[in-house]
Amino acid sequence: MTNQKSAMIIGAGIGGLVTALQLDRLGIKVQVFESVEEIRALGVGINLLPHSVKVLTELGLAEELDREGVRTAELAYYNKFGQLIWKEPRGMDAGYQWPQYSIHRGKLQMLLMKEVQRRLGEHAIKTGHHLAEFEENADGVTAHFVNRKTGQTVGSHQADMMIGADGIHSIVRKAFYPDEGAPKYGGRILWRGTTDASPFMTGKSMIMMGHVDIKFVAYPISAPNPQGQSTINWIAELTVPDGMLDRTDWNRRANKEDFAAAFANWKFDWIDVPQLIEKSESVYEFPLVDKDPVKQWAFGRIALLGDAAHPMYPIGSNGASQAILDSEALSRSLQENVSMEAALQQYEALRLDKTTSIVLSNRENGPEIVMQIVEDRAPHGFANLYDVVSRQELEDISTRYKKIAGFDKETMNAGKEVKS
Ligand SMILES: Cc1cc2nc3c(=O)[nH]c(=O)nc-3n(C[C@H](O)[C@H](O)[C@H](O)COP(=O)(O)OP(=O)(O)OC[C@H]3O[C@@H](n4cnc5c(N)ncnc54)[C@H](O)[C@@H]3O)c2cc1C
Repeated sequence: MTNQKSAMIIGAGIGGLVTALQLDRLGIKVQVFESVEEIRALGVGINLLPHSVKVLTELGLAEELDREGVRTAELAYYNKFGQLIWKEPRGMDAGYQWPQYSIHRGKLQMLLMKEVQRRLGEHAIKTGHHLAEFEENADGVTAHFVNRKTGQTVGSHQADMMIGADGIHSIVRKAFYPDEGAPKYGGRILWRGTTDASPFMTGKSMIMMGHVDIKFVAYPISAPNPQGQSTINWIAELTVPDGMLDRTDWNRRANKEDFAAAFANWKFDWIDVPQLIEKSESVYEFPLVDKDPVKQWAFGRIALLGDAAHPMYPIGSNGASQAILDSEALSRSLQENVSMEAALQQYEALRLDKTTSIVLSNRENGPEIVMQIVEDRAPHGFANLYDVVSRQELEDISTRYKKIAGFDKETMNAGKEVKS
């Protein structure tokens, strides 16, 4: 008879895989179940903020991240005429002890998957296992899986606890919030792609241009190749009032004709937006969606994590970072509580309010609001920025969001409360 605790994690996305590494470190027997039959390097660019990089560094992944990602050096906001509104250093260039990374989401997922398989064993991740239903009793949780394509039953599994890291369409969440319905559409569509091109500015810069109704984001997610070209991740975003897609699917292909014309004049001496769009091989579309924050993630021996717990607009580079912070808070709570139920409740208490603030702040455009302020006050451009908005106002917005998202530098470097 063994006392080893066991956990099943639903979803082998960023949140689920990092949680598997965390729980394994605590000596918990972990099994991950993933809906898709083969985990492929899907997605485009994603950002890891310094607090999540700290967590990944503590998990021993610093070298891998450095190999696969780009250390983001600065973030700059521009208006639709390419006039600079705000620029700030990021990551170590801003004095953090940990970098901020821009990285291909698929590469990050593969890196984490390999690490889970190396540390937990080849069979730690069961693919082709789509959670269909589950039941919980005083001893644990039993989950039942189907093959999503065929609908056929593929088996059941029992563990002491279950973590629902099954993304924005979470089945685990749905069981506790059956009337919640589909994700809420924020009125905008994001078209995402990558293009091999000459790096712009520092070669490690992230830029955002425009305002709420029309926006373009770009940043490199690879070091330059021998021909001097980096893979540039870009997102073109437009307000489309009735644009909600029938189902939000991260891998949904799109047509450039649906949005390229809106950016036809966005050619500047430091970035050529039409060319970036034109030269990209594939474009994916995703609506700006989130869900209303809920009041409970922990239900006895079951808890939600990552997008399943707090789906948010992809604003402020927080989606993956907050899932990683969740995993750290969960691990800490399990170390500090003998009772699993108490641990899951502590995890919820550590994370729920914080992520709720981010979801709500992102609905107000988070730190990107500076672009809208300038658009409202100077729709035809400006001769002098500080006649339109004061430096203090810009600085306050940037500082406030870092505090909300938990990565203000002083707190982090002082080692206070950065953990979640
Ligand atoms: C294919 C894909 C591509 C993405 N691309 C981008 C991108 O380019 N940029 C960006 O900012 N964000 C992207 N995201 C979202 C981003 O990964 C998340 O916002 C963030 O990393 C939080 O991760 P998560 O683990 O909570 O959720 P996710 O990364 O969404 O992972 C959830 C996982 O659970 C699995 N799953 C779902 N339902 C079940 C079920 N019933 N049973 C078992 N497994 C299930 C999914 O297949 C997925 O692997 C993408 C997500 C996916 C799934």
